[in-house]
Amino acid sequence: MNGQFFISLLNPGIGLLFATAFFLLWLNRRERYVAYAAAAYIASALAFLILDVGPVLPMELQRLPANIGFLLTGIFFAAAIIQRYALPVPWRAMGVTAIAATAAFTWFLLGHPSIAARILTISIGAGIIAIMVVVVLWPVEKRHLIDRVLFWVAAFSALNLIVRPVVLLSLTGGFDNYVGFQQSVYWTTVQFTQAMVSIAAAISLMVAVAIDQIAELRRAADADNLSGLLNRRGFEAQADAALRRCIDADTPVALMIADLDHFKRVNDNHGHAVGDAIIAAFGAHARAIGPANMVAGRIGGEEFALLVPGASIEAARQLAEAVRTGLAAACADRIPARLCPTASFGIAIGAPGATLSALMEEADQALYEAKRMGRNRVRTFTPKPVRLAATCG
Ligand code: GH3
Ligand code: MG
Ligand code: MG
Repeated sequence: MNGQFFISLLNPGIGLLFATAFFLLWLNRRERYVAYAAAAYIASALAFLILDVGPVLPMELQRLPANIGFLLTGIFFAAAIIQRYALPVPWRAMGVTAIAATAAFTWFLLGHPSIAARILTISIGAGIIAIMVVVVLWPVEKRHLIDRVLFWVAAFSALNLIVRPVVLLSLTGGFDNYVGFQQSVYWTTVQFTQAMVSIAAAISLMVAVAIDQIAELRRAADADNLSGLLNRRGFEAQADAALRRCIDADTPVALMIADLDHFKRVNDNHGHAVGDAIIAAFGAHARAIGPANMVAGRIGGEEFALLVPGASIEAARQLAEAVRTGLAAACADRIPARLCPTASFGIAIGAPGATLSALMEEADQALYEAKRMGRNRVRTFTPKPVRLAATCG
């Protein structure tokens, strides 16, 4: 046992540690891409174990499973990154590349032995798989720093896998035997850069998992499960941001508040479950007919707020009417349509300097007016005329 032996344990050790970490993350959060990351590190650990620690087989046959392990590492890692974006994983293209590289590798191991050719086939095969990640992620909008980091990890791996063997083989002029190979600058560089890329990739993916988990918690904290819309907290945060954007860009914006009519009676006469089904139907209905950029939330028991960027007063009124008149049909999927209550709407229009709370207050006044006038109608807030004090006389 010598120093080299412990160095050999470095890559399998790193692989197993990261595989364990991703497995534990996966137990907590059954996301497929986390499982793929765990599989990639298991494959990497096994490949390095077979190659550097396992017994030498006749005709160096241990190199075949080891290199299949390296290709599987690339495939699972590519799948992990692509799956994180819920994009289709090119399993078939990756499989064909891996099989072609393995066939060429086997030929250069058994048919026409050449260490240099084997290095080239496996590195280029894995490099092509890394390029597939770059190609798939290229058009994806990289909103967070971590999205860019993952992209560059894939791009650097591709570059490393394709350029490194070509450069190093041309420098050293190939290898005649494995003793020379194992002690070569090439293999030491592979071990070093592989360890570095492996650590960088694992840390990036773990940060991505953490970021995804925080985003998921935030989404859950802002969501209203019953209506499928935002809850009051989520609505206020998103509506406030959307309102600011509209006012800064000088585009119109409308806020409407809807309240189900005599909802208490529905609950009292037909049960809470029917009431819940109506709230769910209202949420799905408003979401389905409102524009995609509409911020929609349930801000009270049977009260909803919809902020519509870009909507003029007329467009807002039309949308409110469409929600109002379509509600019975939307309920009919879940409960007998005759049980569906009507709804009243109050609309306020954003003006320069408007705040969300002022707009909500105005929409609320208009809603109160709609209720007072007999319910099942849409009212728009109209500011009270300003009385000018008589100044002359
Ligand atoms: P109005 O037309 O004046 O709005 O009358 P209303 O009966 O709708 O108003 P009120 O505020 O008196 O009653 C609201 C009812 O909404 C009270 C409560 O039973 C019901 N409610 C609030 N939250 C929920 C909920 O999550 N599920 C169900 N099923 N009912 C709810
Ligand atoms: Mg009500
Ligand atoms: Mg109410």
